[in-house]
Amino acid sequence: MAKAVGIDLGTTNSVVAAISDGQPWVIPDENGEAILPSCVGLGADGKLLVGQEGIRQYAAAPERTVKSIKRQMGTNHKTSLGDREYLPQEISAIILRSLKQRAEKALGEEVTQAVITVPALFTDAQRQATKEAGEIAGFEVLQVINEPTAAALTYDFRNEETERVLVYDLGGGTFDVSIVEITGDVTEVLASHGNNRLGGDDFDRRLQLHLIELFYQKHQVAVPEDAAIQARLLRAAEQVKIDLSQHAFTAVREPFLVSQKKKALHLEADLSRETLETLLKPLLMETLSAIDRALADASMQAKDLDRVILVGGSTRIPLVQSLVSEHLGQAPVAGIEPDLCVALGAAIQAGVLSGESIDAILVDVIPHSLGISAVSDTVYGLRPGMFSVIIPRNSVIPISRSEAYSTTFDDQDMVEVNIYQGENAIAKENVPLGSFLIENLPLRPAGDLKIEVHFDFDHSGILAVTATEQGHGQQSSLIVENAATSRLSSQDLKQSRADIDSLFEVELDEDTGLDAEEDIEDD
Ligand code: AMP
Repeated sequence: MAKAVGIDLGTTNSVVAAISDGQPWVIPDENGEAILPSCVGLGADGKLLVGQEGIRQYAAAPERTVKSIKRQMGTNHKTSLGDREYLPQEISAIILRSLKQRAEKALGEEVTQAVITVPALFTDAQRQATKEAGEIAGFEVLQVINEPTAAALTYDFRNEETERVLVYDLGGGTFDVSIVEITGDVTEVLASHGNNRLGGDDFDRRLQLHLIELFYQKHQVAVPEDAAIQARLLRAAEQVKIDLSQHAFTAVREPFLVSQKKKALHLEADLSRETLETLLKPLLMETLSAIDRALADASMQAKDLDRVILVGGSTRIPLVQSLVSEHLGQAPVAGIEPDLCVALGAAIQAGVLSGESIDAILVDVIPHSLGISAVSDTVYGLRPGMFSVIIPRNSVIPISRSEAYSTTFDDQDMVEVNIYQGENAIAKENVPLGSFLIENLPLRPAGDLKIEVHFDFDHSGILAVTATEQGHGQQSSLIVENAATSRLSSQDLKQSRADIDSLFEVELDEDTGLDAEEDIEDD
């Protein structure tokens, strides 16, 4: 039987997935990379460069490299590469062909059929061009499906009840929010809104400008408009952004960025998640208005939604997750990596259409929240011993997360880090997992020292906790072996989240009613 795959043909990145043993999985390249940058180039020697190779060439030879071709789909825009001109579907076909080869190599058999995803807002002409791209690449295109539908399928496959799902998709270059209704095998997009010029690339540019500003403040020298220097800054900005999704602080070091009067000037700066959030918040507020418009178009309110799903690499940013949850009054379901779930959903659809049997998707999750005891600034004033969650329950493992805390007393020379597992707002009501001290801190007024607490939870259930004082770098850590994990399907996840939510509400009412999340300081 011919093998069918699902393909997420994205503006920035593309992904291919297949079904094996009833489970969808993303097919990596020979280096283990799941994501193929949607970039095509022609080397100086006429060699075709697809994906990462294309990206590497882009800074040096943009005239021989094509990015974001998806924006041109459905038009007759011609792109010159070498001595030939290409239509958008031909460039897309090169990306699809590369994914086809990847899949055939990994599966050891010919792959002839595909389901390809497109944004819900794509017109007929854009869908037709996508189908043609698939055919040029040598696929029989079983179906062109909407990206939010594919994402929803990953979570809702074969659920008999009608579910209304909001899919918030923030990628590298585009943003969409869609409301999808699913009943059994039938999915319908009720409303879709977006901005096809908003995404991670804009965040990188904001941060790039900030880095230029920091450089100027330090050296009183403007960063030149030179393309290579700017490209270096943009790459550094993206790395900072990605690091700050996991860490509360990060350092950027770009040595020899500019030379002036034979003197090399370096960019060296420390950035906090807080600074990044201040830069990104205005852009993200726009996505919340799009949510409201989509809800209004679907004649729905936030409370009518059964699920919220986050899709796209930029939804790994903690601020995106918290703004969406606060705005909708419900936490988005996590479980499947946001940049892979569209391809996985496409693979499920491809499997269904080609007659494969598919099981519910299982993921490894942390069944209880993990965090530390801290002083919280609550409506009743500062309260010690509150549970400050660092990794929320049901997060998919492996996962790394950090939070920043500050000292509470003047001349505090040590901090005790007490680690707990559970859902109670009072730390000691949860299960203690261990504690350690970070000592010999420099003597400073209360609040002056910033301490980053980093949790790293791996596949084998080992939790590594590290506390680092930001200014002087004092560090201590503890390894907790065999912290609990469990395997859940997305349906189980939803149920267990709902169960715990209701328990938690009761506990909060009976207990203190405090919000442990505000302005946390360490004790
Ligand atoms: P996508 O188009 O869905 O592949 O998303 C690509 C975008 O996600 C790029 O702008 C990446 O910089 C961004 N991205 C990927 N991982 C992260 C991360 N951990 N934190 C923040 N942004 C990320």
